[in-house]
Amino acid sequence: MESSSESSGQPEAFAHVSAQDGAVRVLQQALDRDRVAHAYLFEGPSGVGKQRVAVALACALLCRAARSGVHCSCSICQRIRAENHPDVRILRPRDEGDRNLQVELIRSELLPFTKFAPFEGEAACVIFPEADVSFPVHHAEAANALLKTLEEPRPKVTFLLLSERPDRLLPTIRSRCQRVRFRPLPRQTLELILSEHGTPEAGRAPAIALSQGSADRALALAADGLGERLVQTVMRVDQAVASARPGDLLDLAKELADSDQLDLLLSTLSLFYRDVAQLGLGQTDVSLSFPEQRQLLETRAAQVSAVEAAERVAAIAATQEAIERNANAEIALDSLLFGFATGNLAPLRLVVPKPRRG
Ligand SMILES: [Zn+2]
Repeated sequence: MESSSESSGQPEAFAHVSAQDGAVRVLQQALDRDRVAHAYLFEGPSGVGKQRVAVALACALLCRAARSGVHCSCSICQRIRAENHPDVRILRPRDEGDRNLQVELIRSELLPFTKFAPFEGEAACVIFPEADVSFPVHHAEAANALLKTLEEPRPKVTFLLLSERPDRLLPTIRSRCQRVRFRPLPRQTLELILSEHGTPEAGRAPAIALSQGSADRALALAADGLGERLVQTVMRVDQAVASARPGDLLDLAKELADSDQLDLLLSTLSLFYRDVAQLGLGQTDVSLSFPEQRQLLETRAAQVSAVEAAERVAAIAATQEAIERNANAEIALDSLLFGFATGNLAPLRLVVPKPRRG
């Protein structure tokens, strides 16, 4: 297929990128054919390699060796990776307020750059990590300034917009970019990343299950055993629900409501009951979120029907939504846990307001 690929199959400029074959193939082909687009939109979850690929592409645009070789360590590539090459700018969201980039910054930094770059090399590149945060639709001024630069392409300047939520960008910005999709990382890749970072084996499965395919999230969850603590709390919730003592349920609802990890806890609980539902359906070869708790999950699957477990998953999602819309967390959790214990999830409807738009 593409001429620069050796037998490994992984395009060489991106040889260090895992599990994003589709995205890197598109980009390597563009490099090989000298048809790199003026602007790309890399879309996909955070922590799956978008920025790594963007930096590799910048290296390949500025350095011949990086284009066809392995991880290049020439001074150009080193400076690009260290973010101090004059022809590669990385513009992140601000650390304050809405985090959007302000139009003054676009005018004072971006526009001159796109007008005069490259300063040193053959090409220039601007990378916008979290582009949807920097240029949200509702801060139109900066977004329009960006749009204007995208509408007037300059030879040798490539724009790379990275976004977890491309729908939050102006449609006119999206339509100016060639879209490249990045996938959530598969379990195997996350396993490898966590083991490379020295995460103990016991903490890996819950961290991976909760990471939604994002290496950043998996690492954050694995750090300080957060993933393990979440799992332990979920086991306690399940115990309390199974024994159905009202006092325990009330105490737990209060404890959960006070937790600053409530949303993560509920997501963990949801994964737990998803496992129960899968086992309840007699699916034995499923990949469980909590493989280490298999015995407990099987016991639970014998007690709670697959339908009921699936209803619990739905009820948890409804509770998360209600709390996000400012429902009283403790009341919502009382209702959820008593609903689990009694098998009657109907009262939940009382605390979940109808979705409203606008
Ligand atoms: Zn190089």
